[in-house]
Amino acid sequence: MAIIIDGKKISAQIKDEVREGTAALAAQGITLTLAVVQVGEDPASTVYVRNKQKACEYTGIVSVKIAMPEETTQEELLSRIKELNADPGVNGILVQLPLPKGLNADEVIRAISPLKDVDGFHPQSVGALSIGLPGFKSCTPAGIIELIRRTGIETEGKECVIVGRSNIVGKPMAMMMIRENATVTVAHSRTADLPGVCRRADILITAVGKAKMFGRDYVKPGAAVIDCGMNRDENGKLCGDVDYEDVFPVASAITPVPGGVGPMTVAMLMKNCLESARIQGLVR
Ligand code: NDP
Repeated sequence: MAIIIDGKKISAQIKDEVREGTAALAAQGITLTLAVVQVGEDPASTVYVRNKQKACEYTGIVSVKIAMPEETTQEELLSRIKELNADPGVNGILVQLPLPKGLNADEVIRAISPLKDVDGFHPQSVGALSIGLPGFKSCTPAGIIELIRRTGIETEGKECVIVGRSNIVGKPMAMMMIRENATVTVAHSRTADLPGVCRRADILITAVGKAKMFGRDYVKPGAAVIDCGMNRDENGKLCGDVDYEDVFPVASAITPVPGGVGPMTVAMLMKNCLESARIQGLVR
């Protein structure tokens, strides 16, 4: 029987801590502002942007939504980002992804000042993470580290298998788990004997995007299982990469979907916004 890792509770704790942090800054006359750029009107993006704005409201961060039309050109978007980079009243810049077809997200990410890159996607932020320098950390993997630490899951000397090697989850996750002194394996679609590789893990982290792909045949008894997946099952219900019902009896700890990793991402975005005050030298 596994401990259920409660992402709702832990994300709420983090948002409360950020709220305390912004209150302390306010006492020094500092207000933090997050600019959220949305290009087009993709309904899922609109929901994500609204959730981020709600979290800002709760944590005492001012959020400014910059809505740009679907037909915005790359040049227009880059020029808007340049303005936000130069605006001393803006501490964090987030461009909601995915962008409409025809826009180059990589170039847009590179255009954001690394001092305001609260998503942690800029190559400079990624580089800083990999060599242990201060900088913004990608929110989803940073949230997983908080789940692991606050649930008391030991990482030192443990085998960690991460399935997925994307730039926003798998790769930064690997860097962070190395820093937690785990022995890290990154698996992907070309990995031979994936179930066997996964069964080596004391901590198994799945970031694949395939509904209920990981049953107990992928899990060593007693392993901690962290599921990043956000998928729909055959009935259209939200589910993870892990077959929760099947794995729950054999794992020592497990994240549910929803209510596990999902809520952590926005909480860590708020933490990054708070961190911007230090990164920008507004406070020590
Ligand atoms: P990507 O599609 O960018 O990456 C998926 C990774 O999974 C790739 O590295 C791919 O391998 C690997 N993969 C795909 N199929 C298999 C397979 N059959 N066996 C082994 N590996 C496989 O996804 P993301 O990293 O962006 O997201 C992963 C999941 O996490 C998604 O469900 C997404 O919705 C969710 N997510 C959740 C977030 C949250 O806030 N909770 C935030 C971000 C993502 P290869 O590289 O070889 O193609």
